[in-house]
Amino acid sequence: MKAAVYHGKEDIRISDVDTPTIGDGEILIKVHACAVCGTDMRTYNHGHKSIEPGRVLGHEFCGEIVENASNNPLAIGERVVMYIVMPCGECRYCQKGIDNMCMNRTTLSYHHDGAFAEYVAIPEKAVANNHLYKVPDAIHSDAAALCEPLGCVLNAHGRLQVTSDDQVVVLGSGPIGVMHALVAKVHGAKNVMLLDPSKERLDIAERFGFDHYIQVSSDKAHHDAVMKATDGFGADVVIVACSVAAAQSDALELAGKQGRVEFFGGLPKDKPMTTLDGNLIHYKELMITGSFSEKRIDFERAQDLIMTEKIPALDIITHSLDIDNLTDAFGMMTSGESLKVCIHPNGVI
Ligand SMILES: [Zn+2]
Ligand SMILES: [Zn+2]
Repeated sequence: MKAAVYHGKEDIRISDVDTPTIGDGEILIKVHACAVCGTDMRTYNHGHKSIEPGRVLGHEFCGEIVENASNNPLAIGERVVMYIVMPCGECRYCQKGIDNMCMNRTTLSYHHDGAFAEYVAIPEKAVANNHLYKVPDAIHSDAAALCEPLGCVLNAHGRLQVTSDDQVVVLGSGPIGVMHALVAKVHGAKNVMLLDPSKERLDIAERFGFDHYIQVSSDKAHHDAVMKATDGFGADVVIVACSVAAAQSDALELAGKQGRVEFFGGLPKDKPMTTLDGNLIHYKELMITGSFSEKRIDFERAQDLIMTEKIPALDIITHSLDIDNLTDAFGMMTSGESLKVCIHPNGVI
């Protein structure tokens, strides 16, 4: 089968590899759709300490069961999505129910081969713990593939607790920024402002009808725009949905008093330091939080929002490509000409 195999920094090869043979307790899935994640791009651009060369990447997927060697009653032909975090279930964090923080977790596409391939084998541990969820017939596989990134966004929102009284700024109008803004709307936020330095990116996001689209500029005119849009108060919630240290310091200035600030994106590995004005945190009583990955309940809630079409997942996917063009997809997402790009390893099904 064809698969996108990671060999190291800037080296992903589309190769012909053996189709996985599944062992006892495992399930084999034919991949219908696998969306490109910012993490895939980071791995490609910078390498990744937990990913060994030879690994097949891709973890935002939906596919069809073609073999089942387990006791799980899921039928052949059933379309499914997967909660890709496999926690140990025993460590202190698992006991607290924060399985994304598990000390011993393994994850599909990091420790097991992923879904930028015609077929993906689901590990026994995931099958046994019911990590596969059925997708209703009415939901497109491309849309279902976004349950994974939407779950990560919901994990962050669990702490942000957006209400109808909130004015929300999202810095970064890529697919993740758009998902944050959409979730803020689902939670009833009265004013959602999407900010990005790229006019092209903001234009693509026009389709979602947020309250304000504001271009970020070096002269900080966007600060005035946010103040104007919030009647001089600043935002109650500021979400940094990009991997830019300057945006993190900017976020503190855009936040109003007792604002909640979320650093969603990690910073580049070789430049993880950021500069924050401590007095802004002090005088405005800001709360700053980060988030990583997702808990099972976030993934389940993401399914609910996508399956009930409260989140218009298909509108977030602007392009679909063949697996041979995977690195073109990285380029399109980096340049801002696309939102989410979906890969169809078996062609369009
Ligand atoms: Zn992802
Ligand atoms: Zn654990």
